[in-house]
Amino acid sequence: MAHSAFTYIDGVLHAEQVSAVSLAEEFGTPLYVYSRAALTDAYEAYARACAGRRASVHVAVKANGNLAVLNVFARLGAGFDIVSGGELARVLAAGGKAENVVFSGVGKSADEMRQALEAGVKCFNVESIAELDRLDAVAGALGKKAPVSLRVNPDVDPKTHPYISTGLKANKFGVAFDDARDAYRRAAAMPHLEVVGIDCHIGSQITEIAPYLDAVDRLLALVEQIEADGTRIHHVDVGGGLGITYDDETPPDTGLFVRTLLDHIDARGHGHRSVFFEPGRSVTGNAGILLTRVEFLKPGEEKNFAIVDAAMNDLARPAMYQAFHAIDAVVPRNEAPSVYDVVGPVCESGDWLGRERALAVRPGDLLAIRSAGAYGFVMSSNYNTRPRAAEVIVDGDKAYVARPRETVESLFATETLLPD
Ligand SMILES: *Cc1c(COP(=O)(O)O)cnc(C)c1O
Repeated sequence: MAHSAFTYIDGVLHAEQVSAVSLAEEFGTPLYVYSRAALTDAYEAYARACAGRRASVHVAVKANGNLAVLNVFARLGAGFDIVSGGELARVLAAGGKAENVVFSGVGKSADEMRQALEAGVKCFNVESIAELDRLDAVAGALGKKAPVSLRVNPDVDPKTHPYISTGLKANKFGVAFDDARDAYRRAAAMPHLEVVGIDCHIGSQITEIAPYLDAVDRLLALVEQIEADGTRIHHVDVGGGLGITYDDETPPDTGLFVRTLLDHIDARGHGHRSVFFEPGRSVTGNAGILLTRVEFLKPGEEKNFAIVDAAMNDLARPAMYQAFHAIDAVVPRNEAPSVYDVVGPVCESGDWLGRERALAVRPGDLLAIRSAGAYGFVMSSNYNTRPRAAEVIVDGDKAYVARPRETVESLFATETLLPD
């Protein structure tokens, strides 16, 4: 399924039925291009496997928060997983429902808690005792009861990159497994909290099911203890983290992944509980590409560089995690390729998008950086006073501007000079 919305038609890369060449000409580069069909297919793979079961899908907004993208999911009936008050506002503006929102994150402010309580979110995924105390106080002041789940750190190794593994002991996220039962006792005793569930999120870009099964086993053992203490657990939130194919990874098929987890929870005698999934990367990652144009080719003694008009401020993952993104010519040339490092114009040696790529390119050619739909635009910045790229969403043979390119003037419009 990977990349299937982005295919070559008569030698030109297309997004669905729209040529990437015409997109670049109309909207300029660098340009994020999303496919509505690819977003829909990736979400529906979760939704289909959940249909008829006590299971729901909460799309992680932090992977791609564009309103048009969120709206595609909202129209399909998705819930959302948020990590800030800003993301809650986005979900509501995109047509999502607060009652289907779970609020994750390790540092929620009192303001964010108030905002989420007033909107009526489904659940707060709480990560510490201090956060329980704060939420209890905020809910009390509003005369409300806050629905809570504790994010438990199951201490399983998801076998992914250390920067994106979150469920190990030496990690800022979650309540330690050994402290969780006691934390639940304390939560249950707080007057303005209502314990409703348990959650975990063990990492990202996970390409095996086994670590999830280990995490679920640990969670369910804990659920039995919590219920023995007299607190009912209605839902088990298994988090997100399912990986995608960037290069040669072979993550499990989404439907198989969902069914395997649900069947496992059933078989363990917990089939009466609701199960939540919080996918981010696996519903948006391969539904987007970043189009960029080659500015210069710079041959070097040790390396050749293809300097392009996208940079680390547009797509941070290579600089941040040494992440691999496939890079393809939009109109492949029938010429012998050379090996290039594909780099941006930002003044940092870490500003690279791909290393040692065999490409037959000339200045002015367009390249497509694949798998850019997740943790792409959302992580972009204005470093080097670079306006952020436009985002376009393609639907069949039409393209819509989901976010226009920023202007330079807008970048410092609210800055002021010192008084005389
Ligand atoms: C980031 C995050 C997700 C989504 O992770 P993906 O790897 O993009 O699927 C889900 N839940 C929580 C709590 C997260 O922090």
